[in-house]
Amino acid sequence: MAQIFAYIPHKDGVADDIAYEIQAAAGKLDSNAQVTAIVTGSGDTLDKVAGHLTSLFKEVIKIGHDDLAYPNAEVVRKALCNVLPSDAIILAPHNTFGMDLVPGLSIKFDSACASDVIDFEGTEGATLKIVRQVLGGIISTHNDLDISNGAVIAIRPGAFAPVEDGSEGGTIVDKSGDAGDISTKRRFLEIVEAEVGDVDITKSDVLVSIGRGIEEEENIGVAQELAEAMGAVVSCSRPIVDAKWLEKSRQVGTSGQTVKPKVYLALGISGSFQHMGGIKGDPFIIAINKNANAPIFQVADVGIIGDILEFMPELTEKIKDL
Ligand SMILES: Cc1cc2nc3c(=O)[nH]c(=O)nc-3n(C[C@H](O)[C@H](O)[C@H](O)COP(=O)(O)OP(=O)(O)OC[C@H]3O[C@@H](n4cnc5c(N)ncnc54)[C@H](O)[C@@H]3O)c2cc1C
Repeated sequence: MAQIFAYIPHKDGVADDIAYEIQAAAGKLDSNAQVTAIVTGSGDTLDKVAGHLTSLFKEVIKIGHDDLAYPNAEVVRKALCNVLPSDAIILAPHNTFGMDLVPGLSIKFDSACASDVIDFEGTEGATLKIVRQVLGGIISTHNDLDISNGAVIAIRPGAFAPVEDGSEGGTIVDKSGDAGDISTKRRFLEIVEAEVGDVDITKSDVLVSIGRGIEEEENIGVAQELAEAMGAVVSCSRPIVDAKWLEKSRQVGTSGQTVKPKVYLALGISGSFQHMGGIKGDPFIIAINKNANAPIFQVADVGIIGDILEFMPELTEKIKDL
């Protein structure tokens, strides 16, 4: 198999937690592979993240350039094309940046492309067997990918159990000089930080999280009472924010907040990968949903099939009694 590279995003000099999951995915793809991490950026933050990643990868390629200081998939794509071999197997996260980066990268390399991959099932010659999900996670599809000319594969956040922090003592290879001309038509303008809400859901050990199953804005008060009784904080899925029932700072998921609670009570949440991608740290998940086939039950530690509108007030009363 061709060499495997892991594109690792980072912020403020800290590698995204997905680095541990991509390392695990690469191990599943080829247990004998020596995976090379690749990071792009500029200045001290790039040096910091490259240094951090040497504990996880035997080799870390860094590409530094002022134009790489901000997230711009078009610039990153050019830099990777100029540095990596065209038959490389490149793994990247299936987050909003990865969705922008990956398809165009495979076109430039003329290699295979697979997005939102949740598992690898071995190889037969130049065929890599991959698993993806469709229809909101209800159906898994098993696909053959021809990797004879390399591949660019986006890994779903949360699909591979992260490896432990390692002690690889890897080396950093500076390929900034090989990046060549990375000027592009797309320009970076600014980063707009998410609004700061009245409550910081990322700091809470217990989250009572509501989804579209809450049905009406008036019912949010019932969830808030339950959260108060439990000493928890209310978070939510994206439809609740889209409906303007709660502020954006309460949204868990790939386009919302990343949370690391100890207990996650999911009320009327189907369990889309965009939602689950925002839950880290392996919390104890209790899911209540009236649809027994809801994907959230695949990851929940405790699953309760029922109507949250009946369940929430009863649970609140029981907790108050206790
Ligand atoms: C680029 C992109 C980024 C996204 N980012 C995010 C993100 O950050 N966070 C996020 O959450 N989503 C995100 N989404 C949306 C995501 O794809 C899903 O649409 C969303 O997570 C679904 O929210 P939900 O589970 O609340 O709603 P649904 O999928 O509609 O599920 C509602 C669930 O409630 C159950 N239910 C209904 N009534 C009751 C009841 N009375 N009692 C019990 N159960 C009931 C239903 O059976 C169902 O399972 C993103 C989508 C895209 C395309």
